[in-house]
Amino acid sequence: MDRKPRDKDMNEIVSLCKRRGFIFASSDIYGGLQGVYDYGPLGVELKRNLMASWWRAMVYERDDVEGLDGAILTHRLVLRHSGHEATFADPMVDCRSCKSRWRADHLVKGKCEKCGSSDLTEPRPFNMMFKTTVGPIVDDESYAYLRPETAQAIFTNFKNVIDSTSRRLPFGIAQIGKAFRNEITPRNFIFRVREFEQMELEFFVMPGTDDEWHEKWVAARQNWWMEQGLAKENLKLYRQTKEELSHYSKATVDILYKFPHGFEELEGIANRTDYDLGSHTKEQGQFKLMARVEPNHDSVEKLAVRDAESEQFIVPFVIEPSAGVDRGVLALLTEGYTVEDLENGSQRVVLKLRRHLAPIKVAVMPLARNNEAIVDMAKQIKAKLQSLGIGRILLENTGNIGKGYRRHDEVGTPICVTVDFETIEKTPAKVTIRDRDTMKQERVAVSELPQFVREYFRPSDSQ
Ligand code: ATP
Repeated sequence: MDRKPRDKDMNEIVSLCKRRGFIFASSDIYGGLQGVYDYGPLGVELKRNLMASWWRAMVYERDDVEGLDGAILTHRLVLRHSGHEATFADPMVDCRSCKSRWRADHLVKGKCEKCGSSDLTEPRPFNMMFKTTVGPIVDDESYAYLRPETAQAIFTNFKNVIDSTSRRLPFGIAQIGKAFRNEITPRNFIFRVREFEQMELEFFVMPGTDDEWHEKWVAARQNWWMEQGLAKENLKLYRQTKEELSHYSKATVDILYKFPHGFEELEGIANRTDYDLGSHTKEQGQFKLMARVEPNHDSVEKLAVRDAESEQFIVPFVIEPSAGVDRGVLALLTEGYTVEDLENGSQRVVLKLRRHLAPIKVAVMPLARNNEAIVDMAKQIKAKLQSLGIGRILLENTGNIGKGYRRHDEVGTPICVTVDFETIEKTPAKVTIRDRDTMKQERVAVSELPQFVREYFRPSDSQ
């Protein structure tokens, strides 16, 4: 068969997402909220499958990582002392001609993207954190932030986790959750948005071993993305220059992916040193003294570990692999989106997602939508497969098998099971299994179907 994968086009991906229910503009009926998206019936499955795969690799399959689910609303002092209030800003410029606003470092040749004018204001820092008020009284101190990264809840809970789990270095704390950044110019669909999800690991190590762990994590994370189906040639590593580093970082390596708009950051792996644990320990002490919460300085929670030999407190260094879920979803959609020319001259769109990520695992299709015996059999098969716990099994009762196959190719369903007249008339009862990628069909006995499906979706075989 003649296969011609085309260049990936963002418009085609956006259109597939809307048409088939992966991703919608948020508040769509009121014109949309810029930089905010909702995940539809299939998008929510894809996103959750990606997050589950990350959690499996980062927490369940390791012996040195614990999980956490911190709150989104964050105490203002946490983000003051983490350095975000002062430095979490992007350079913003205004176009004097058309009055639009831009992120200075994203403009090509310093020209306004809307009208092409070079008459721009000097860049000035724009803090990207969303502020909100907490409680019924609004005064100078009643505000809190929507977290701009999930990491801070890990640092502020460092001692709680150590005390409740008796962990020793090296060990990590993993978290998946929403983060919010008031991006000056959200763009490229779900690539740069104002509300997004992060999968972050803070891995605490002895100072001095940090460079080695940094390299290990860069390699591990690149491998993991390949296991999710991203091709090696579509991934690149980029070492940030001194000028590009965040305020907390000693070194950062970005994993770039070839998105439809070019190679851009999918995940960043930073060496955050002892910056965060150190500054929260110090500033907490200052705060307690000033606020007279606890005048005894010794009662400050030391975000540190006690070294068994020297009995001294050591502030661990932190290696942070931080990946965006939404950018991950966009990368999977980009990688998987394929247009194939068929022998009969027509084309088909296939979303080649790895089995463990596919939103629908199996579509069960009755050949005749009004034949009670066939539909009943399909329902029984659906219920049986659903009970295997491998993910969503769909009963697709439209009566048009050809259309059903095409629809499920487009949304990446790995196998379709068709129940036909022979299934209900002959013994042993058999169904047709049709494979998304090869389009091959085979007959399998209904009694053997659960075993077949279980084998097909065995986690170690994530293809
Ligand atoms: P960029 O340089 O693209 O603005 P960043 O370096 O500020 O990203 P980090 O602070 O390292 O990003 O955040 C870690 C991860 O979170 C990024 O690799 C990305 O996947 C995701 N992320 C960050 N900002 C956004 C955003 N506005 N929309 C979607 N995902 C984001």
